[in-house]
Amino acid sequence: MNAIAQASAAASEIVKILQGLLPPGRGPYQLHEPELTERERGLVNEAMAEGFVSYAGRHVGIFEQALARACGTREAVAVVSGTAALQVILHTLGIGNGDEVLCPSLTFVATANAIVHAGAVPHFVDSHPDHLGLDSGRLRSYLREIGASRDGALRNRRTGRRIAAIMPVHVFGHVGRPRELCDVAAEFGLPIIEDATEALGSMSDFCPVMRMGVAAALSFNGNKIVTTGGGGAIVTDDVALAGRLRHVTTTAKRPHPWRFDHDEVGFNYRLPNLNAALGLAQLERLEDFLRRKRSLALAYRDAFAHDACWDFIDEPPGCRSNFWLNAVKARDADGALLEEALGSLHAAGYRCRPCWTPMHQLAIHAGHPRDALPVAEDLARRIICLPSSARLSEYLQ
Ligand SMILES: *Cc1c(COP(=O)(O)O)cnc(C)c1O
Repeated sequence: MNAIAQASAAASEIVKILQGLLPPGRGPYQLHEPELTERERGLVNEAMAEGFVSYAGRHVGIFEQALARACGTREAVAVVSGTAALQVILHTLGIGNGDEVLCPSLTFVATANAIVHAGAVPHFVDSHPDHLGLDSGRLRSYLREIGASRDGALRNRRTGRRIAAIMPVHVFGHVGRPRELCDVAAEFGLPIIEDATEALGSMSDFCPVMRMGVAAALSFNGNKIVTTGGGGAIVTDDVALAGRLRHVTTTAKRPHPWRFDHDEVGFNYRLPNLNAALGLAQLERLEDFLRRKRSLALAYRDAFAHDACWDFIDEPPGCRSNFWLNAVKARDADGALLEEALGSLHAAGYRCRPCWTPMHQLAIHAGHPRDALPVAEDLARRIICLPSSARLSEYLQ
């Protein structure tokens, strides 16, 4: 087959598979739709009736406790977004001021933005072709090449700047080889800050997700597995760090009944009570969301098994993914094929999307330091994300 015939065969193949799972007449199918019930309405009404709409309400604290329980951490601090969570972790750990933070290029733009907001510099490293997260083997050899220890800090020989942390991303909820990444972090004395915004409910046999490093960031944006409308959180076992985070996210005001005494330039980043009430109702249904997302993922896995053009991106060995976002990878890395498949899918009512544009290919982040990124570039030409709302499991026999 020539390339054009191959592209249209791959496009009609993926449309046919989706039509077999999700009835064509019932679309359009978005990647994610939030699921709100009477319970969400009830708790938001309760918060409104109590008159606490901003962060002083009691639902914020209850939501944080429920979240810490769900993540297996000692503390959770609820904030206005996942981006704010990442930024404020860096800020509170004293990372900024031109420090470099290692992160994947293949991620949502918020990872790199948060690093820049903190005054630090994203330093892009390559992804693993199977689990889509940071390639720890490649990262180790790269750091051996460019890193130099000086005065107790790791420096980038090329830029002279301090390399201050590693920020891995659990892409689509898959947690790949966390133990190996922790070993690399330990070898170079770097803290890990997890961008776990896509991974609430994911587990790994090798290392507790959310507890790989100092702290992890969560997101409750409308498209995430649990939503607060918009919102995020930091989960950590470090009680003192959680206290500092609560302080700095509420304008760094010293507790006093009437006096305004602020001991640093803080942020107004705490999650409002109305959003926390909504999130509390959502969190009660986390197990149910996980169960239904898994059954949808298993149906995709079966439908794409033995397909000649598309491979389902499955959970990595030793990981129990939340299957936040289902995706397939084209056998051919061909931008034209991907465009054709996306066009056919949209025309058929399946609002599928490619993976993100790698950060180093965006003008806003192109100038930052980086390793060679062949895998990130290749994956970006192959991946298509599929409709993944929990409710779609209704259509499966
Ligand atoms: C959603 C997301 C974020 C940011 O979360 P917001 O709540 O939208 O700010 C960060 N990183 C990744 C990988 C995400 O998917």
